[in-house]
Amino acid sequence: MIRLDGKQTSNEIKEEIKVTVSEMKARGERMPHLAAVLVGNDGASLTYVGSKVRSCEYVGFDSTLIRLEEDITEDALLAQIDTLNKDESLDGYIVQLPLPKHIDEEKILLAIDPKKDVDGFHPANFGRMALELDAFIPATPFGIMQLLERYKVPTSGKHCVVVGRSHIVGRPISILMSQKGPAGNATVTVAHSRTENLAELTRQADIIVMALGIPEYLTADMVKEGAAIIDVGITRVPNESHPKGYVIKGDVAFDEVAQKSSFITPVPGGVGPMTIAMLLKNTLLARQWNLS
Ligand code: NDP
Repeated sequence: MIRLDGKQTSNEIKEEIKVTVSEMKARGERMPHLAAVLVGNDGASLTYVGSKVRSCEYVGFDSTLIRLEEDITEDALLAQIDTLNKDESLDGYIVQLPLPKHIDEEKILLAIDPKKDVDGFHPANFGRMALELDAFIPATPFGIMQLLERYKVPTSGKHCVVVGRSHIVGRPISILMSQKGPAGNATVTVAHSRTENLAELTRQADIIVMALGIPEYLTADMVKEGAAIIDVGITRVPNESHPKGYVIKGDVAFDEVAQKSSFITPVPGGVGPMTIAMLLKNTLLARQWNLS
């Protein structure tokens, strides 16, 4: 069994980006520039945005954090988005979710210029991805594709069952793995909460991607010997004996499933750490696409 180490792989990707950035610097080019918009004071969002900004600094990008009051109006936020769309010093930006309840998230995400949408949430990017055109791919499925490719997990001609059909994980990964190219050419089945006899499907799978958010849902009896397992799930499960009062669990019963699998991502330390690296990668791509 080979453990797909997302921490190590994301560090490798960051180092590769760092090298590219120093080459750009040597040529006298402007550095890639990422901005993050944070509305309000949500603790988890502050932590996520903080680590995105620190990662930018680590690889040599310019970064800007735009903090806005919790009670900002939707119109004022849209005006801010318009300013960012027009800012030529900026290659890409993200709007940290969730937004306060009085703001329509969809309206905000639709207002982002697709050329700067490094989170890859705009329909234009989703459509371009589905049509195999250059596109910003959402960080989580992009990270999974990188793990599969870099660890040379066989996907061509294999049967992959994706459990979950969300717009940010299940749906895009099912599209990407069925496309031609590295980590692609799989025959993909998408399962969801209405799927009947899920275990019968997963037992036929060469690759299983679990993205439903129910801790330890995939057990050893649902897996065929030698399957590759990608666990996207992240759930905080209360645990009094842990200093934080909770532990992080994936959607896979790791210990028992690992014994039957050929490749498996741990949680934490698998898919999760890949997301910031892929956001940086998208920002670098934005810079490169802007140059051409
Ligand atoms: P959503 O809640 O948006 O989607 C969950 C999907 O799972 C839905 O399609 C749902 O089906 C399906 N589902 C729910 N219950 C079952 C069931 N019993 N059997 C089969 N399918 C089921 O979640 P996300 O895609 O946003 O996230 C999934 C998990 O991944 C979460 O734990 C989340 O925290 C984690 N995550 C991790 C990331 C990372 O960086 N590692 C990034 C993003 C998410 P239906 O459509 O019918 O409702």
